[in-house]
Amino acid sequence: MLAAQLGLRPISNTSVPCKICDGPADLYGVVDMNRSCQTAQGFRAPLIGVPIYYRRCADCGFLFTDAFDDWSIEQFKTHIYNDGYEAVDPDYRIKRPTDNAAAVARFWAPHKAGMRVLDFGGGNDVFCTSLRAHGFAEAVTYDPMVPEHATRPDGKFDLVTCFETLEHVPDPLATIGAMAACVAEPGAVFYSTLTPPDDFDSQGMWYIGPRNGHISIYTKHALALAWHAFGFKTAPLNAGTHLAFRTLPEQWGLAEAPGAA
Ligand SMILES: [Zn+2]
Repeated sequence: MLAAQLGLRPISNTSVPCKICDGPADLYGVVDMNRSCQTAQGFRAPLIGVPIYYRRCADCGFLFTDAFDDWSIEQFKTHIYNDGYEAVDPDYRIKRPTDNAAAVARFWAPHKAGMRVLDFGGGNDVFCTSLRAHGFAEAVTYDPMVPEHATRPDGKFDLVTCFETLEHVPDPLATIGAMAACVAEPGAVFYSTLTPPDDFDSQGMWYIGPRNGHISIYTKHALALAWHAFGFKTAPLNAGTHLAFRTLPEQWGLAEAPGAA
């Protein structure tokens, strides 16, 4: 199948504005549309001969493709989040949400009985079901890609979680803005997305896998700029997890979060 038949945006070899900071983003690298990222536990789908070009912002380092910017949710479901998806991300359905729920339940154990939690982009309700079983007052899944969870719940939430989702969105500021709008004041967003390692340039295309739906890769600086646009700071907890907030609840004991920018 050709790029045009798939409805991919035509490639331009001129700079386009970065989706986060408007800086100049030139072409950076190219991989086959069926390439999965190097963390996909050894599984390799056959290449299909459709090149997906990625760009990198000279100012904030945000790495992205605009190839899918004209796709509907239905096109993402047909070509990426289809029956073959689980083979390139075997943990997404049960293991990752279960592990994440255990970590969140451990950390917020002293406060859970009074907490409203929203899980953003979780795909299924495994994470929230587990949180409810752990004794959280409320835990709700919101995912625009999944019909039964596509209605945005009312009100604000003490904690919004968002695991391994931001790398999948073609419009990062819209997604981060939608999350920010759900956060109570005080409150926070606990989220994960891998930021590039220091030796990224020597690792080739690393985490970049169109087959996984990895179309937006954020540097820590890019994340800080994106959250700033909504009045939030973000603090990296490690290379993969982050906490974003305007004001942290005092009782969480995190008021002096290190590295917040
Ligand atoms: Zn940028």
